[in-house]
Amino acid sequence: MGCRRQDEQSALLRVVAVHGPAGTDRWTVVPDERRRAHGRGAWVHPDPECVRIAIARRAFHRALRLSRAGTVDTTAVQERFAQQGRDTAGSTDPAASKGRAHPGLSSRNRKRV
Ligand SMILES: [Zn+2]
Repeated sequence: MGCRRQDEQSALLRVVAVHGPAGTDRWTVVPDERRRAHGRGAWVHPDPECVRIAIARRAFHRALRLSRAGTVDTTAVQERFAQQGRDTAGSTDPAASKGRAHPGLSSRNRKRV
């Protein structure tokens, strides 16, 4: 959704937008680790740069069908990456290697990001 590469679903992070507080046009984008949350989902690489590009392109607004005036808080997603960075210290690119670990998935599992 940010960099527009297509990739295996298994290599991507699903994020959903949670509306609130009521009466505002604020949305909080949170990681959907289990990929089961209801609502408007979007897919990004688990990569801060991919998310940064998505924000710059207002891709979250499009993918999550938010109004132009709506504000999107992606702090939770950014913090998730910060957490991941600490957990995987020493690994150069965990996302890429994870993607290559599933070469056999069908193209139906590919998502445009
Ligand atoms: Zn990407």
